Amino acid sequence: MTTIAFIGLGNMGTPMAQRLLAAGHTVRGFDVAEQAKARLAEAGGTSCSSPAEAVDGASAVILMLPNSDVVEGVILSPEVNAGLAANTLVIDMSSSEPLRSRALEQRLRPKGIRFVDAPVSGGVKGAENGALTVMAGGTDEDLAEADAILACFGTVKRAGQVGAGHAAKALNNLMSATHLLVSSEAILAGQGFGVDPELLLQIVNGSSGKSGSTENKWPNFILPGTYNSGFALKLMLKDMKIAVDLADQVHAASRLSHAAVQLWEEAAAELPNNADHTEIARWVAATSQESAVSHR
Ligand code: NAD
Repeated sequence: MTTIAFIGLGNMGTPMAQRLLAAGHTVRGFDVAEQAKARLAEAGGTSCSSPAEAVDGASAVILMLPNSDVVEGVILSPEVNAGLAANTLVIDMSSSEPLRSRALEQRLRPKGIRFVDAPVSGGVKGAENGALTVMAGGTDEDLAEADAILACFGTVKRAGQVGAGHAAKALNNLMSATHLLVSSEAILAGQGFGVDPELLLQIVNGSSGKSGSTENKWPNFILPGTYNSGFALKLMLKDMKIAVDLADQVHAASRLSHAAVQLWEEAAAELPNNADHTEIARWVAATSQESAVSHR
């Protein structure tokens, strides 16, 4: 069993750290939020007062943080850098930027620190149940070692070299967000014509229009009106922007993707800062009246 530093104990990090504890690993956790650290201590982990204290004595470091800025801020801080033992395996499970992950790996490697990217899909429920899809990027040797830890979280899919996991994750969320947006528009159009949303979802889920949005997000968070998936709208928008930047860098056609980003950006500007990403459906519904007027 391994001593693992776990930094970022939010909606995803907390249940993931709990799965490591349940598997018998030692977890030394840190988060800037006190209540997040308290949750870890209650579950049997060690709550640390700084990231440097968390990495002390750990042979692997897992990061589950909002974005690349925060990941770099933590792992490249002089205190953490000084505390990382040679050969430590750093696993960035946040949804970060692929090119920045590659650059980070190149900064760490000369110090004998190994890096893999291993972002996830499957939401808070998947994190609780160990049913996440883990998209891993790194060398074969590092990924083979990471596998023993990553298997606690779900199914590991290797995407390629360092950064490929982060690329796969961003592209997955670009598709997921675009499906959610178009399903919101389609369900509204159906409703306008008198088709019950639940019936339309049943039909679509047995047909070719189905997606994670129609099978999971609509029945579980949107139709019940709870909008509480645990994945923030601003984090979804971050992932979409990473994906369209990637498409632009490799000169791939991305007009629909850019249009989707623009609509999600408008929603983000109008909704509260902590809005759940499923709120996009309610936002689309609220814009119906405006677009009806502008199309007359
Ligand atoms: P979250 O906001 O709930 O958690 C992030 C945590 O990081 C918070 O507890 C915050 O206090 C902590 N944090 C911020 N800055 C810090 C710092 N400098 N040092 C230590 N801790 C710090 O976010 P989340 O939903 O758990 O998502 C985490 C990552 O996983 C993101 O990159 C997100 O895009 C990705 N993700 C989320 C989901 C989901 O369903 N929520 C699913 C897949 C991937």
